[in-house]
Amino acid sequence: MLIINCKIITWQTPNQILENQAILIKGQKIVRVGSEIQLIQDYPEEERVDVHGQWVMPGMICAHTHFYGAFSRGMALMGDPPLDFLQILQKIWWPLDQSLDEEAVKYSTLVCLIDAIRHGTTTLFDHHASPNFIDGSLDVIADCLLESGLRGVVCYEVTDRGGVEKAERGIRENIRMVQKARQGGFEGRVKATFGLHASLTLSEETLEKSRAAVDSDTGFHIHVAEHEVDEYDSLNKTGLRVIDRLQKHAMLGNHSIIAHGVHMDMKEVSLLAETETWLSHQPRSNMNNAVGLADIDSALRMGVKVCLGNDGFSNAMLDEYQAAYLAHKLWNKDPQRMNGASLAEIAFQNNAALASHFFAEEGQIGIIEEGAQADLILVDYLPFTPLTAGNLPWHIQFGFRDSMITGTMVAGKWLMRDRELLTLDEKQIAQRAMSAAQATWKRYQQQF
Ligand SMILES: [Zn+2]
Repeated sequence: MLIINCKIITWQTPNQILENQAILIKGQKIVRVGSEIQLIQDYPEEERVDVHGQWVMPGMICAHTHFYGAFSRGMALMGDPPLDFLQILQKIWWPLDQSLDEEAVKYSTLVCLIDAIRHGTTTLFDHHASPNFIDGSLDVIADCLLESGLRGVVCYEVTDRGGVEKAERGIRENIRMVQKARQGGFEGRVKATFGLHASLTLSEETLEKSRAAVDSDTGFHIHVAEHEVDEYDSLNKTGLRVIDRLQKHAMLGNHSIIAHGVHMDMKEVSLLAETETWLSHQPRSNMNNAVGLADIDSALRMGVKVCLGNDGFSNAMLDEYQAAYLAHKLWNKDPQRMNGASLAEIAFQNNAALASHFFAEEGQIGIIEEGAQADLILVDYLPFTPLTAGNLPWHIQFGFRDSMITGTMVAGKWLMRDRELLTLDEKQIAQRAMSAAQATWKRYQQQF
């Protein structure tokens, strides 16, 4: 198809805004980007999609999320309210993930995927936990991704919190999915990494087993130093800070994703830079959990590949972007923190590099140029001040809204057109999710 009558935001480096140009898509890929008149002349038979002057940009990417957390919405907490991060885990997330069965995992995933399609998020890195439904849980998520048409990278959070047997099951689930994803299939839209919960719930033995379970081409996806308690626990158990501990286990590197890193020291930050490990930042979650904010500006200056995730908050990455811009200014009482250009580098270019790394066989993701995967969104934004490649980050901050996203395409296939979902039945899924959520809440309550 030929996408015409559009303005194109390429998110190349440096970013470009193209006018009077069209995008030719064949199969899963962008085949040509060039003069609209020329492309119409060269491809007269091609189906033309007139987008009426809307902005076309690459689909947004979420570097860290938890589909399993969706049913926490509106859930009544049991007992006294949590006082700190560890209690938040103990009173909310752990009893919730223990309450998930196969049906709950499926519908919790699907509601997140609907949210993602609606809000232009086309690739998501999920970090899954369901300790009473481990075997095959990643297949359920992969099937949902396939059905939705989205792109995802899945993993299972290995932890010792449920004992050795469950930790081993988690390891096996990761191995199984890493191998399955590597064999191809999944239409090139689902990949896998090896998930680990966090240093504070992992023994030395489990880390050793996990590293030995996969080859060096497989990376790890793990929470790090989300709260000081993770560092204290690691120092207490091993005498090492968390990143040093992961380094000792050969778990850092350009295939690995560290989520949060709020309480790392400078040596840990420099280790991430040296080893080219990805750091995913989730400011909405950090604010909600009251854990502070990582010094992202310094991490960027030190060369760390910082990306943006949502940690299970809404799958509208515009919201995370807009929160990041504001949060760092307030936290540091410094209006120069989290400059729009730095934020755009994190949210667009670095997230694109992360996705392109994991989908290397499919080609570039998160960029509009010839040869890249056709993962695109349409944004119905009518600026009333000049918009250039230079000031775009501030238009996104102050002008773009989730509701302006009217179309979502992944691998050359429309998942939403004119705000109408084309792959998933939202009403039917919401209905099934409602009963799965009620059953999940009941199991949650029974644990107190
Ligand atoms: Zn997380």
